[in-house]
Amino acid sequence: MDELLQEEDLRNWRRTHYSKEIALSIGGDGEVIIMGWVASIRDHGNIQFIILRDMYGEIQITVKKRECSDSLFHLAKEVKEHSSIGVRGKVRPQEKVPNGAEIVPIEIRVFSMARKAAPFLVQSRMSTVGLDTRLDLRAVDLRRNYLGSIFRIRQTVLNSVRLFLSEQKFIEVNTPKMIATATEGGAALFPIFYYDREAFLAQSPQLYKEQLTMAFESVFEIGPIFRAEPSRTNRHLSEAISIDVERAFVDYNDIMSLLERMILKIVDTLKEKNQDDLEYLQLQLPSMELPFSKYNYSDIIDRLQKAGERIQWGDDISPQIMKSILLHEHLNGFYFIIDWPTSTKPFYIKPSAADNRICESFDLMCEGLEVSSGSTRINHKDQLVERMAKQGLKPEAFDYHLRVFDYGVPPHAGFGLGLERLIMALTKVENIRDVTLYPRDIDRLAP
Ligand code: ATP
Ligand code: MG
Repeated sequence: MDELLQEEDLRNWRRTHYSKEIALSIGGDGEVIIMGWVASIRDHGNIQFIILRDMYGEIQITVKKRECSDSLFHLAKEVKEHSSIGVRGKVRPQEKVPNGAEIVPIEIRVFSMARKAAPFLVQSRMSTVGLDTRLDLRAVDLRRNYLGSIFRIRQTVLNSVRLFLSEQKFIEVNTPKMIATATEGGAALFPIFYYDREAFLAQSPQLYKEQLTMAFESVFEIGPIFRAEPSRTNRHLSEAISIDVERAFVDYNDIMSLLERMILKIVDTLKEKNQDDLEYLQLQLPSMELPFSKYNYSDIIDRLQKAGERIQWGDDISPQIMKSILLHEHLNGFYFIIDWPTSTKPFYIKPSAADNRICESFDLMCEGLEVSSGSTRINHKDQLVERMAKQGLKPEAFDYHLRVFDYGVPPHAGFGLGLERLIMALTKVENIRDVTLYPRDIDRLAP
């Protein structure tokens, strides 16, 4: 390595400003220290422009031959994109750059030199390389502005969910992820070794969150769910993050109302806190009018049949099929499909009193995408056992769950909402892997 390009330790340097805050310090005569990575370099002979990026933006470092020492100028010429650096310098107004200021460096410390050419451009909105190549080097990929915006949006979504639910008197809980039996039919489980026994990774916190309504009334959990999804789709992960909500003394109508108010709160908070990201992504958030439209499952099936789709009452509705009426009817933004056939839903969902072939259930959709499923739950043991038997499940295997129903389980309802699905709906990203830090699917277990 070039002797002038020694890597240095952090020592006494601490960041004084993020790049975004630099313009505010124009006029002050003090020095600033900024840190980040080299996003790009432009060589103009006697002037070097280094664009330094940090998590919240970028700033131009202007290194002129006659304004600095030879060694500093040499370093600026040699430093490579993606290197991790710190810069101590003065702030100067600069009209030609977006944030109106640049840094004239006094000292640059290269903390860690990039040893290979960047595999992709961090500044381009759209990536020119394939998803798999990017995922193989995901931490570098995540330096792209585009993904920075997506994950700052995710942060706001999580914060506003926590704030909203806490204000509504919910308690945040964490339930076991290593479990003895399946929580529901359908999606397959991942078996694991648990000492000398077989156990599974939890496919949902369903039964635990229902039990917790006995004591805490209103609970929520934000945590991983594990599903062995053998098909390769753009909307399924093997490990996803679920926002699970359960509340006592309410039914599915109350829960739909809670859920739509939560979505409204998220969208309002995004408009307030993430303007820059929304602008960068050129994003129009889905239109919000409460209450969201509700469509009966049976009516949707009628419409689909009229549109020529081969679908029967009792079938699940795939996004592809849903699209055929979306085009005709412009079902834009969020809407509910309610009152699903009992046979399509897990055993713990309460059949409707008027007609037990349908159950008190809903899916929250955004255009063709399922974002959440919720329902009123069964709170009587005998009814639960009967439903298990109908779905071919062994009640004995659920003894640890059924036994609490002898002690007054309240009427309750709730939903599970896929965090990645919600981010897809809000950002219009089409592949769930793009909104996941380190996606897991049938083909990928690393990084
Ligand atoms: P789908 O029909 O899309 O496979 P599901 O009906 O099997 O989903 P639920 O059991 O209803 O899923 O789970 C609740 C929510 O969790 C879903 O609405 C979805 O947002 C999310 N979710 C479920 N499975 C996955 C997965 N494999 N990857 C990502 N998110 C998921
Ligand atoms: Mg569902």
